[in-house]
Amino acid sequence: MRQRKVKNLDIKYEEYEDILIRDPAAMKGRWDELSKERPVYVEIGCGKGKFISELAAREPDHFFVAIEGNMSVMLRAMEKVRQAGLDNVVFTPEFADDLSEWFAYSEAQGIYLNFSDPLPKNYWYRRRLTYRKRLLSYFRVLPEDGTVTFKTDNTDFFEWSLLEIMAADLKVLDITRDLHAEVMSIEDPEKRALFNIETEYEAKFSGLGEKIKRVVIGRKQKEEADKVNKTLAAYNGRAIPENMTNISDGKFQPDKKSAAEATEYLYGSYEPKSFTGMLYTPGRTESVRLMVSNYSCPCDRILTSDLHDRVYDVIAEDMVRSVECFTWTDENGKFTSDDFRYRASKLLRNQEHLLIILDMKAYADSSEVEQERIITEACRVLNDTDPDKKIAVLIDLNGDIRFTESFREGLIAADRMKSNILPAVSWNYGEDSTSVVMCLAYCPETADEFIRVSTFTAAASWTIR
Ligand code: SAH
Repeated sequence: MRQRKVKNLDIKYEEYEDILIRDPAAMKGRWDELSKERPVYVEIGCGKGKFISELAAREPDHFFVAIEGNMSVMLRAMEKVRQAGLDNVVFTPEFADDLSEWFAYSEAQGIYLNFSDPLPKNYWYRRRLTYRKRLLSYFRVLPEDGTVTFKTDNTDFFEWSLLEIMAADLKVLDITRDLHAEVMSIEDPEKRALFNIETEYEAKFSGLGEKIKRVVIGRKQKEEADKVNKTLAAYNGRAIPENMTNISDGKFQPDKKSAAEATEYLYGSYEPKSFTGMLYTPGRTESVRLMVSNYSCPCDRILTSDLHDRVYDVIAEDMVRSVECFTWTDENGKFTSDDFRYRASKLLRNQEHLLIILDMKAYADSSEVEQERIITEACRVLNDTDPDKKIAVLIDLNGDIRFTESFREGLIAADRMKSNILPAVSWNYGEDSTSVVMCLAYCPETADEFIRVSTFTAAASWTIR
């Protein structure tokens, strides 16, 4: 919506100094003094203020901070609040970024995002107010049971935001894709009137026939959240059962003897020092599917080489991820890990999780030395990255690979990597081409987690007889 510039904005603003908070950072930890101990709620992007003024009139025992970066539209909001004689709303004429610069933990009880700018997904997604890092910043100022409520008419933006909620390991507490139909279904007129406050944009877009979507976002239970921080797997909003044995019936895991046979096929006489966990996988691509599902977040990019099985792209697309490719050769066609290092660190700046898949059958024609070097170099580069990020690397050996001694040197490099990195190897062997995946974890907890989350994903594919 184009906004005519209000003339003499500064002069007009002088009338509202009493309700203007121009330096919100100075209020951090002190909002109580201003709110007179009333619980504080925040709206980011209040526009012309219909929502905040109606809500404040209805809730005199609450206190509201309306943030709006466009000073001309905010003037309209301040006029409304003044006209209604409200004493429980203040305004900050700023574009909010990290709310924790302005509010201390638990200082706001709830946050409203109404018809936030959708911004083009491809270039500006990090500035969208529901981008995962922004969502997490809101929860830095909310108490344990605090919520963020987001309304929009934009379907694409809404669905994208749901994935961001998952990626941030937050929880959907309530969701509707047709808010107004829900309002109409409430019989008691009083309750109906209280259920939703229509904003200016909401009136406009629902008038044009768009359905209004709303989601209420909260934190996970404390136990769930604690677990998430300690582990390498991305829980992606799922509650994976603590004990998977009654689902899998223990059938996905090879017994000791079979596991030893499979490991020997892979490593020869070398015994891995890492904590291993092995799983039978249905088909040769299941290992890829379960790593994507468990070790990346929705909308993440998965790193793989330019030579890779196109099935990876399909799996990534199916799970709302995408693939980024690196090349192992420089401009002279010589082997180098420079591009791999560059892309891994670029993606790690943006993502908490990074999954790398090395498709070794793409290099089936290369020399064993070359194959070994690919794995060794990848491990070396990854051991050198930010230790706070969670990295998983799948070495996909499904297909015809020659497990020679020199090739095994690469697999030995994948054994005993840093604690934030989880290598996994998948291969097939034997007359019936049994497919297995095995993790090489730094600690037993990570290996247990690998088995648990992988069993969860595989259970959806295996037929248990
Ligand atoms: N909530 C209003 C206006 C929606 S338009 C309504 O529903 O009618 C989105 C508004 O958010 C714009 O006025 C824009 O200036 C404001 N905005 C966008 N990003 C912002 C940010 N980071 N901080 C404060 N305001 C922001």
